Amino acid sequence: MPAYDFGCSQCGNGFEVKMSIAAKESDTAIECPQCGSVNTRHVYRPAGFIMSRNAEPACPQNVGGACCGGHAGCECH
Ligand SMILES: [Zn+2]
Repeated sequence: MPAYDFGCSQCGNGFEVKMSIAAKESDTAIECPQCGSVNTRHVYRPAGFIMSRNAEPACPQNVGGACCGGHAGCECH
């Protein structure tokens, strides 16, 4: 099952959700595991980004121009 990266617009948390493509296409509301908000959206990451995840970029949600919503250390505002 593929994993998708999501970002929470409420608290700025970034998390990964494993779900089927069908479930993703059905537009099911994804709950933030940190604050419980459903104000989340899919974050697109270029291939290979997950491999360098240990590098801890300043704003991991700000890949491809999508703003993370502003969390600690965010430099995309
Ligand atoms: Zn959240």
